[in-house]
Amino acid sequence: MTHTDPNRFQAIISHAKEYGFVFPSSEIYDGLGAVYDYGPWGCELKRNIRDQWWHAMTRMHDNIVGIDSAIFMHPTIWKASGHVDNFSDPMVDNRDSKKRYRVDHLIEGHADELRSKGDAAGADALLERMERLLADNDFVGLRALIDEAGIKCAVSGTADWTDVRQFNLMFSTQLGSVSGEADQIYLRPETAQGIFVNFLNVQKTARMKVPFGIAQVGKAFRNEIVARQFIFRMREFEQMEMQFFVRPGTQREWYAYWKEERMRWHTGLGFPAESYRYHDHVKLAHYADAAVDIEYAFPIGWKEVEGIHSRTDFDLSSHQKFSGKKLQYFDTEINQNYVPYVIETSIGLDRMFLLTLSHAYAEETWTKEDGREDSRTVLRIPPKLAPIKLAILPLVKKDGLPELGRDIMAQCRSDFQCFYEEKDTIGKRYRRMDALGTPFCVTIDHQSKEDGTVTIRYRDSMLQERIHIQALKGLVSAQVR
Ligand code: ATP
Repeated sequence: MTHTDPNRFQAIISHAKEYGFVFPSSEIYDGLGAVYDYGPWGCELKRNIRDQWWHAMTRMHDNIVGIDSAIFMHPTIWKASGHVDNFSDPMVDNRDSKKRYRVDHLIEGHADELRSKGDAAGADALLERMERLLADNDFVGLRALIDEAGIKCAVSGTADWTDVRQFNLMFSTQLGSVSGEADQIYLRPETAQGIFVNFLNVQKTARMKVPFGIAQVGKAFRNEIVARQFIFRMREFEQMEMQFFVRPGTQREWYAYWKEERMRWHTGLGFPAESYRYHDHVKLAHYADAAVDIEYAFPIGWKEVEGIHSRTDFDLSSHQKFSGKKLQYFDTEINQNYVPYVIETSIGLDRMFLLTLSHAYAEETWTKEDGREDSRTVLRIPPKLAPIKLAILPLVKKDGLPELGRDIMAQCRSDFQCFYEEKDTIGKRYRRMDALGTPFCVTIDHQSKEDGTVTIRYRDSMLQERIHIQALKGLVSAQVR
């Protein structure tokens, strides 16, 4: 299933801004490339995704605990992790337009074009050759492939390319008041290293036994060469990572376990299985012995949302070497000391946010009973993730209906996010709640005062039914947990 649809993608971006989900950063100063701010409903949605992940990892597993490590870390960490030497992407510039491209994106874009013209075999062959050249770090070969395929710059329309070069994606800054080589530190490009360097602290203080995991959610920074596509590729973003420490030799089975377990998390949230697929890596990162991406059918095509990597004992061994401190575990079951192997699950919170909007966004039209056309834009966000769970809407601003609405609000607000609204016609209020993805609206009318019933309206079906006020909280709670 592919449903690449640039117009739909643009509509999602506009909707996200108009309804207070995502704003371009520093907008009054014309923005800052690939940096975004989350608005009132965006930060609620983001928090709900984060909470679902955190609960699934820590609350639902006896053997996974959390950590919150600092963004700044000792600079040698990034030497040990390989990021100083290896965390780079091959890039190429077009001399005429001065536009810079990531080589893999440029070639993939050309492959998409071939595919759309019906040449799927040509596209596959091109990608296969690219993967091999990337795996060999063969920059001359990559440059030759760009020439051979006749790839042109989308802006200048020419093929006047520079040589292919490496570009390190880490941001650096200075620690303290005196600048100099020794003070140079980096903004972390992943949260994982904060977990590795605390491996023994956590293992000892939380009394963990291998196999066990450490989970972390936090900001990461990458100076992406080409940062576009809204919040899909940002320079400042948030990751949800979990490192699972296992006995050497068992990494294959744990890799298979986490590959399935993570897919189950996605579909368990209510996203359709057919919108997901696995993509095995051909080019493995310097630390991995197996790696797979979980891809989703975004409106911009199939793209990675999460990575699962079998990272071997690379990181712990390397930190052991660079720090001179032992990072080993004594396994009492087999009476052996070893450096554990690691399976990592790493998902971008912002990408998961974009996935949620991509799944949820719908423009609907239908014919009403009186024959007239009607329409709405609705976010079919899974109720567990929706920023507002219940909207409380008194039909009129008088006759004691607002008071009754406030009573319902007081009963429900500590259990889930409620929103009270008495302005505008009921139809307009429903549409606004649809656009925010609110799964339930409740309307209070004069009958409510007489018999204690209200009308609940379901976002997805737009069906309405009368229920007793007493049943409301339980009904909504059951759907949003
Ligand atoms: P890509 O190939 O898209 O650049 P990656 O393979 O470099 O991603 P990882 O290093 O595996 O990504 O990072 C784990 C997760 O972090 C990704 O699956 C993605 O969800 C998220 N992520 C990585 N880079 C970005 C970014 N620039 N903006 C937003 N999310 C990101």
